[in-house]
Amino acid sequence: MYKILKMEGRAKRAHMETVHGNIETPVFMNVGTAAAIKGAVSTEDLQQIGTQVELSNTYHLHVRPGDEVVKKMGGLHKFMVWDKPILTDSGGFQVFSLAGLRKIKEEGVYFHSHVDGRKIFMGPEESMQIQSNLASTIAMAFDECPSSVADRRYVQNSVDRTTRWLQRCKDKMQELNQREDTINKHQLLFGINQGAIYEDIRIDHAKRISEMDLDGYAVGGLAVGETHEEMYHILDEVVPYLPKEKPTYLMGVGTPANILEGVERGVDFFDCVYPSRNGRHGHVYTNHGKMNLFNQKYELDPRPIEEGCQCPACRHYSRAYIRHLLKAKEMLGMRLCVLHNLYFYNNMMTEIRTALDEGNFASYKRAKLAGFEEYDKKE
Ligand SMILES: [Zn+2]
Repeated sequence: MYKILKMEGRAKRAHMETVHGNIETPVFMNVGTAAAIKGAVSTEDLQQIGTQVELSNTYHLHVRPGDEVVKKMGGLHKFMVWDKPILTDSGGFQVFSLAGLRKIKEEGVYFHSHVDGRKIFMGPEESMQIQSNLASTIAMAFDECPSSVADRRYVQNSVDRTTRWLQRCKDKMQELNQREDTINKHQLLFGINQGAIYEDIRIDHAKRISEMDLDGYAVGGLAVGETHEEMYHILDEVVPYLPKEKPTYLMGVGTPANILEGVERGVDFFDCVYPSRNGRHGHVYTNHGKMNLFNQKYELDPRPIEEGCQCPACRHYSRAYIRHLLKAKEMLGMRLCVLHNLYFYNNMMTEIRTALDEGNFASYKRAKLAGFEEYDKKE
């Protein structure tokens, strides 16, 4: 059940109920690729940093430990001891970006595992079966994510096939949700809009998948090399053709500024590896812009990463100490930076929801973006 509580222009403030609890949107999903957020972040940590939805990768879990293992352990929720919503991607993106020697056919994709080179086949039915074994709250449709520089003919053929795959995903999901031994019989399915940077192909595809009455709709294949302006333009053109009364998810995006722009264009689900990946390299987000904690100027800095931040790092530790940990390659340094960054993103989403509730998102966004420039200009 998804209900819009408030709108400001195209921006949506919504409430969604799932079998694993409620989701308040706009929301940033925290990416735990192999059922853990990289940087030694535990499920207990997720409670502390305000995570609403955890995201895991189907391809990674299929390769290791294997989705059958996860199913035997009672599904992903039990396995990682997380009782709130989980979204699993379809594996498509990883198959097309990580795996070696792939061959795309109408039935699906043949490829080699990046772990041990073993030959694997994945099509719409296999992806749905794996995600059903993982028993996530929300499953994503199996799609091809064509390169943003692919030619028009290739993209059109690919999008047509993705549409046929989507119908197969929907049929398979319905069948799986009715099976006796399925762990989550209420698994939701989101479709994915593709079409690279060809707006007419994307609009036509958005119209076609909107008719399929899915539980939510994602815009995929962005943030893969095109400029920010091109991405915003595609959102301006495509989001109006996706059902407003269903959740809208912008996959793999992005920086805090990208998220603010996405919310303004009607997006309410986001995910990105930036906060955890940057945190592992000592790059931390603040309301004044991004800081590099390896910088010499923090050597004797007794302040927290950000004054007033309520994250587990800022409540106790100084910039000087965290900098020392990072330089000494102590795991704690990376962990504290990841916790701060995820808290920063989750907290920004809370602020966005409050601003929408109060009808002042536009002025909030302007002030937030202006703040980010302060350090980015200096560093
Ligand atoms: Zn903090």
